Amino acid sequence: MSIIVNDLTKVYGKQKALDNVSLSIGDGEIVGLLGPNGAGKSTMMKILTCFIPPTSGEAKVCGYDIFDNPMEIKKSVGYLSEQNPLYMDMYVREFLLFVAGVHKIERKLRRDRVEEIISLTGLEKEANKKIEALSKGYKQRVGIAQALIHDPKVLILDEPTTGLDPNQLVEIRNLIKQIGKTKTILLSTHIMQEVEAVCSRVIIINNGRLVADDETKHLAEGGSLEKTFREITANI
Ligand code: ADP
Repeated sequence: MSIIVNDLTKVYGKQKALDNVSLSIGDGEIVGLLGPNGAGKSTMMKILTCFIPPTSGEAKVCGYDIFDNPMEIKKSVGYLSEQNPLYMDMYVREFLLFVAGVHKIERKLRRDRVEEIISLTGLEKEANKKIEALSKGYKQRVGIAQALIHDPKVLILDEPTTGLDPNQLVEIRNLIKQIGKTKTILLSTHIMQEVEAVCSRVIIINNGRLVADDETKHLAEGGSLEKTFREITANI
């Protein structure tokens, strides 16, 4: 199993962002965490990437416990947060070399690894450009590239297509599907079509609670999953 979560709860002040969530994700799955804004998706992802601790419950990623082995988890997981924090005044290749250094990839291997990732994420033509000069879609590719640089087993992507135009959307979804052939991916979204297009499985979350967990094919029009999601979003 790549991810195992047991009774995870996170409370911020009086706000319960996650309420006793349990789930498990097998190796090689592409799973969509689907829910409206405020459902608790980012909170789940920040806990799994060891950026914040849960209030109670337990979680393991790649066999490592979030409390006992956070450093091992950071080595095993690539993470793209919703804001995609990039250094806008760096050049694409320069930035990826910098990130490779942060991950302590051996100096003599860094250049080759960066070129490999540039090719995998389709950034060849942009590699010598300043990040600030890139379109939103290409900035997102750089965000995915930085998350992949240390060859993690698991990729966690928080709302990876938000703000993209329709063409960029298709390109980024295709890239995620391609990466999903060799890695476990957990991505969050509030758009049902996104999980249908990219994921094999969907976990619906609302008000911090897990409300459905099923194969995406059951999201098809008229299915009970689709109804569940429509009911949730209708109440917002
Ligand atoms: P999502 O990613 O599904 O939009 P979040 O995990 O960001 O949801 O947020 C879940 C709930 O927790 C929301 O009500 C949000 O306002 C609250 N929340 C998230 N982060 C914090 C924080 N750092 N402090 C207080 N409340 C927070």
